Amino acid sequence: MKLSQRITNLNGGGSDGWGVFYRARKMIADGTPVTELTIGEHDIRTDPSILAAMDASARGGHTGYAMVPGVRDLRETVARRIAERTGVPTTYKNILITPGGQAALFAAHHAVCDDGDRALFIDPYYATYPGTIRAIGAVPVAIATRPEDRFIPRAEDIAAAAKGAKSLLINTPNNPTGTIYDNRTLEGIAQVCHDQDLWLISDEVYDTQVWDGTHFSPRALPGMYARTLVVGSMSKSHAMTGSRCGWIAGPQDAISHLIDLATGTTYGVPGFVQDAAAFALKRGAAFETEIAAPFRRRRDMAHAILAEQTTVGHIPAQGAMYLMLDIRATGLNGEDFATALLDTHHIAVMPGESFGRSATGYIRVAMTIADEKFEPALRRICAFAAELAGSPAIHARHG
Ligand code: PMP
Repeated sequence: MKLSQRITNLNGGGSDGWGVFYRARKMIADGTPVTELTIGEHDIRTDPSILAAMDASARGGHTGYAMVPGVRDLRETVARRIAERTGVPTTYKNILITPGGQAALFAAHHAVCDDGDRALFIDPYYATYPGTIRAIGAVPVAIATRPEDRFIPRAEDIAAAAKGAKSLLINTPNNPTGTIYDNRTLEGIAQVCHDQDLWLISDEVYDTQVWDGTHFSPRALPGMYARTLVVGSMSKSHAMTGSRCGWIAGPQDAISHLIDLATGTTYGVPGFVQDAAAFALKRGAAFETEIAAPFRRRRDMAHAILAEQTTVGHIPAQGAMYLMLDIRATGLNGEDFATALLDTHHIAVMPGESFGRSATGYIRVAMTIADEKFEPALRRICAFAAELAGSPAIHARHG
């Protein structure tokens, strides 16, 4: 039987740059140890106190259908957190709880784009973005950025693509680049949204992973409240990736329509997961800093290692759990470098090309393994790049 074009066109066709990732997984399954620096997943698991709250909630009976928009306590807790951090008045009526940030990205685009509408996003991008846009029947339009701008978009480039488009998706702190958009950039983006009547979908799932500068939510900019949907998640901030709990914050009218969408799709998020999320959020900012600490530490370690050599360049990581390394001096593109690295040293990284054309010649390294493994792996990557480039190798200190 024939399937819909909407679903058969989902992956967009062509190489998606994930070959290295799948090959690494196969090598591991076949018994070859591989150092995996690919996926944005913490090396710690969800904190036992959060699991205890989840257990208590489930055993207390919160295992039936939960409220579709989200349980009131969690919606209020998320709203309070946003209001405190951004200064924007926010109540539970501005919040829809979703099964993770990914479902929020899908729902947000569904809410603002019709079939065939153009939906803009910034390249390099989190790998699901174009597929998510295609999944709701809209047309993904990538806005290229430049390494010399640290992959931060220029307002004029967005404006040039914005005519007739419905939405713009941004992500700060950014996956894969690790950059944080400064206020001027965000103000420029807001201006384009006003001029071109665009919805802004602001993916802020890394808002607790800030190493340099400050994270600023564009929803707080003048006039942006009515045209911004913020995507948030418990995944990165509280090491709860598998619990699938996130949210959309937006104007009340949009949220009430999004509740109708949730009724027809997810039918809500398990009550015991939501209770655990509310408990986790109430542990406050100090706990979030603790969860983020290993990435901050490894970021500092990485910058020190990278400063010792000249072959591998990098985009200074201001936030999030990744390093964007420039390996163009090797003469290889990201995909060929990542493939050679996997074959030669059994280290798996993501080719920049998996995140769009702008990141050709880069690799993304997830800082998601223990320090004592991370350090030698990064040194090994630098030494390998130096060998390929024919420049003096930096000798790996360990192994
Ligand atoms: N946005 C970005 C930029 C991400 O990196 C991720 C996960 N890697 C997500 C959204 C989705 O996260 P989740 O669905 O686990 O909340």
